Amino acid sequence: RAKGKGRDNVALFERDMILATQRRARLERDLRRHLEAGLLELCYQPQYACGSRKMVGVEALLRWPHPDQGYISPAEFIPIAEESGLIVEVGKWVLDRACRDAVALYRQTGTWLSMAVNVSARQLRDKDFIDVVENTLAHTGLPADRLELELTESMLMEDLDGAVEFMHNVRALGVRLSIDDFGTGYSSLAYLQTFPINHLKIDRSFVRLLPTSGTTIAGAVIALAHGFKLTVVAEGVEEPEQFEWLRQAGCDYVQGYLLARPLPLAALRARVLEECVPAA
Ligand code: C2E
Ligand code: MG
Ligand code: MG
Ligand code: MG
Repeated sequence: RAKGKGRDNVALFERDMILATQRRARLERDLRRHLEAGLLELCYQPQYACGSRKMVGVEALLRWPHPDQGYISPAEFIPIAEESGLIVEVGKWVLDRACRDAVALYRQTGTWLSMAVNVSARQLRDKDFIDVVENTLAHTGLPADRLELELTESMLMEDLDGAVEFMHNVRALGVRLSIDDFGTGYSSLAYLQTFPINHLKIDRSFVRLLPTSGTTIAGAVIALAHGFKLTVVAEGVEEPEQFEWLRQAGCDYVQGYLLARPLPLAALRARVLEECVPAA
């Protein structure tokens, strides 16, 4: 009996493995087709200054409305796109669309927002990526200092020399850099000092715990960032108490469902028109 059950479990395990492999292959194929068919979308999550409570920027987040599976989470499809290399093409599309939308938004509202775009490890290894960034700025007309690229600690540590070279090249264009999900990866604090970055983003896993716990880590990240003359963005702020704690701790910017969910461009435009008074 026990033996039979063991065999059943092995069979079930194998079946699950096969199903997972099939799903990945199918998603990879569909993602390539849907990218080409223009089905991918970006939404934009506003970032607010803690002091003035003004919207200062947005983060572009990729959305994939699959015709028969509904929205598929980037947490599932980004890794698939990474492994297949498709992220290079997807990433070009994201950068182009985000820059175009930032310019369109300015034309429609008179307000410039900073546009943060997530970059993956595979894109960073692509030698052409720096040219892609430069060309995208040139053809969309987005001023370089309105663009911000989000990198993660783990991708920087994967190829330290290559990453540092990329960071210097992209900073030379005038583009700003931030470290996303800070505190969740492995990076030596000693490197932080040598990276030409502008912002640290405190990961949502720490913000979630505020204000009852998590204060030591969040406080330490804020102090560390300010010590290196970097600004701090807290992500995943859902509760007023979290916002209040962060504001009093000197956090510079916040992003989270409390302030705004990721919005389609039209909804973002409406919100900017409502909230932002263009500079005279
Ligand atoms: P991320 O860059 O750390 O983005 C923040 C994630 O937290 C987003 O999830 C956002 O929707 C979510 N979020 C923001 N505020 C809150 C909140 O208050 N509560 C909760 N529960 N969640 C909140 P999303 O859009 O599902 O993206 C997940 C990850 O996928 C991103 O994490 C990023 O690593 C990756 N990703 C998304 N778009 C792109 C892209 O265009 N390129 C690349 N390479 N990666 C992307
Ligand atoms: Mg991000
Ligand atoms: Mg993040
Ligand atoms: Mg994250």
